[in-house]
Order: sequence, then structure tokens, then C-alpha cells
Amino acid sequence: MSFCPSEIFGFVIVIIALLGLCVGSFLNVCIYRVPRHESVVFPASHCPGCGTKIKWYDNIPILSFILLRGKCRHCNEKISLRYPLVEGLNLFFWLLVFLTAGSFVQCFFGCLFSSLLICISAADLDSMEIPDAFNLAVLVLAVMKFGVYLLDGVSLKALLIDFFAGALSGSLLLFCLYLLVLKVLKKEGLGGGDVKLTFACGAFLGWKQVLFGIGLSAYVGLIVVIIHALVKRKSLKDSFPYGPFLSTGFFISYLFFDKIFDWYVNLMFRV
Ligand SMILES: [Zn+2]
Repeated sequence: MSFCPSEIFGFVIVIIALLGLCVGSFLNVCIYRVPRHESVVFPASHCPGCGTKIKWYDNIPILSFILLRGKCRHCNEKISLRYPLVEGLNLFFWLLVFLTAGSFVQCFFGCLFSSLLICISAADLDSMEIPDAFNLAVLVLAVMKFGVYLLDGVSLKALLIDFFAGALSGSLLLFCLYLLVLKVLKKEGLGGGDVKLTFACGAFLGWKQVLFGIGLSAYVGLIVVIIHALVKRKSLKDSFPYGPFLSTGFFISYLFFDKIFDWYVNLMFRV
């Protein structure tokens, strides 16, 4: 059940959906420009093919892509399917966060967290690298969350433990995984960006949720790698960016850790 009062539920859902789409559109700008060290504000969006500035009516999330049939209005250059996908994914994640979050604060941070994870995953898929700026943004979000929960009356000691134990335990576990992959597959399966991501997400999530998220990421990664090997008939040793798997694990952990933990405890200790 959502925390939102039922009288304004429909109205809030529409607002979240519209905001999710608009922010999704901005994420596309960040995913393209941040790894290139370009400003995310200037210049305004333009076609990478002909350089023409994109008019507002050609920049409506998802809708413009469909109306333009995935091509630039001026030069017919193909627009990547990733643009509507990122917008749609951000919309879906924001709605999912809204419907599952237990409080406004959890919803607020969940929406921003999911958007950053989308940027991180897309950048990692693009170049097998996670820009420091994205990991730093997650760390800033962790500090903001720390401050808000402190103002809300949560004890400073508990927050400090979660912040530092989360950051350190997560990144340490990932470093051990890195060594394990190196020994088993004889190659670097994880990168420095993955360790930094886990450090920042650990500070944001706390130690229980980050360790759970890393565990989930291994399952998600294993399933994807096996499916990929079966479908494409390629080796299990093919290279994969690990950022999207970690992001999936951390996002599920943020939303469902308590529910999954309760379910598991009930299952184990049922009389
Ligand atoms: Zn063009």
C-alpha cells in the first residue's frame, strides 16, 4: 500500500508519471554528456547528425520518438532506441518506488536513486566504465539522506554505523569478488568503477541492504550471462559490464529488503 492519501492518489500518480518522463529525458542528456565531460545544461539538445537544435515539440519524451519514427526531422539520422527506453524505464521505476515506498522520504530518495542507477548502467553498457561524477552523485545523495534522517530523529550513532559500515563492507566484499573472478576466470571481471559504485551505494543503503544487493547482483549477472551464452552461443567468459547487475541488486534491495527479509524469516521459523 502506498503512503499517499487515497483522495489525491490518482492526481499524484499522474504528476509522478509526468515528472518521471521529463527527468528520464534529462537522464539521456546526462548519459551522453557526462562521460564526455560536457555541460549537461548548455548547449540545448541538438541532433548529433546535422547539429540542428531540437525544437520542444520534437523533444517530448517517448511521444516524439514515435511520431518521428526514430529519425531526425531534418537529416533523417537514426535516433537511438535508448532514448525512449531510458525515459520509459525512469517512468516505470518512479511509479514502482511510489507504489512500494513506505513514506514520502523513502519515495523521494528512491526516485533519485533509481534515476542515478539508470545513468550508471547506461554509461557502463556504453563504455564499460562508470564516470566518477555519477558515483559522486550517489554519495551526495547518501549524505542528503543521512541529514534528512538525522533531522527526522534517527540516532546519530545508528546513522554513522550504517553510513560507514555500508560503504566499507560493500566495497570490501566487492574487492574480494574481484579477486575471486580474477582467480577463476583469469581476467579482470570487475573494475574500479564497480568498487566506487558499491562504496557510494553502501553509504546510501547501509550495510545490510548493500550486502544483500551484492548477493542479488551475482544471481542477476549469472542468469543474464547464461541466457546470453545460450542465445548467442558464445562463451561464458564474454565480457560484461557489472554496473547494471549491481544497480539492479541495489535497487531491488532498496525497495524490497525488509519485505524479503520478513518473508524469509517467516519461512524459516514458521511453526
Ligand atoms: Zn539531424
